[in-house]
Amino acid sequence: MASLEMIVADIAAEMADAPDRGTVADYIPGLAEIDSGRFGIAVIEADGTCHKAGDADEPFSIQSISKVFSLTLALGAIGDRLWDRVGREPSGSAFNSIVQLETESGIPRNPFINAGAIVVADMILGAHEPIEAIGEILRFVRSLADDDSIFIDERIARAEQETGFRNIALANYMRAFGNLRQPVERTLGVYFHQCALAMSCHQLARAGGYLMAGGINPATGHSIVSTQRARRINALMMTCGHYDGSGEFAFRVGLPGKSGVGGGILAIAPGKASIAVWSPGLNPRGTSQLGALALERLVQRTGWSVFEPSGG
Ligand code: GLU
Repeated sequence: MASLEMIVADIAAEMADAPDRGTVADYIPGLAEIDSGRFGIAVIEADGTCHKAGDADEPFSIQSISKVFSLTLALGAIGDRLWDRVGREPSGSAFNSIVQLETESGIPRNPFINAGAIVVADMILGAHEPIEAIGEILRFVRSLADDDSIFIDERIARAEQETGFRNIALANYMRAFGNLRQPVERTLGVYFHQCALAMSCHQLARAGGYLMAGGINPATGHSIVSTQRARRINALMMTCGHYDGSGEFAFRVGLPGKSGVGGGILAIAPGKASIAVWSPGLNPRGTSQLGALALERLVQRTGWSVFEPSGG
């Protein structure tokens, strides 16, 4: 088998020439202006070896990938009581859908659809000021990646706020059911800022290390979550990480993953690697078109799918 270094370089070269690059999100200028020709990949193995290619060090808007980190933080703060207010089932609907909330009494299906992530942001906010909660999320992600240069892009956060009518509707709707405890604009302030986190593939792959290594940050040896909790977060990423495209992603890639409309995907090969890819063009479900293709090729060449006899 080719070395992982060669596999990663080959995939980046293949993606550079790929004709069908998907459609860049255009609901805010900060995303719409990104060149669809960009592609980056970073793979960090269990022993810390890192393989990078393409634009792996270029920061991009991680958007909904942040929901993995906010869920981890909220579980740490309030534990499994979180599940009284958020479900654990795939929704089969779009990331910003409101339909299920009516029949399900304002309890979102899972923490990775927007409604679920807004409830999680509400929990992190608690009695704090939004600026403190936002600072806590930023500090957490910086410590996971061991990189204090990670930042929140204020321009993106402001644009999310100005155009986030659906998220505002979701939040108000859940507040009406009593499933949002803090004032809507304060909770959304937290949510919009976490979506505006800017990180590179390299930083993201480092930040995801604890999910590869049973809850331990492999770079520092610090326990971030229990082994059971890491396993459960991975399960949710597998079943819900790509909204109504989660089944397709499991079918093609077979790894826990979380997409963001900035074109990033964080994928975890438990015990083997933490992987981040970025290409801004999206498929109709909001998952990076080339990011998913690159991950599909990576698992084909490494056998890392959790459904391989040797995988997982
Ligand atoms: N900021 C986006 C929203 O809330 C995130 C969606 C995504 O990345 O899937 O609509």
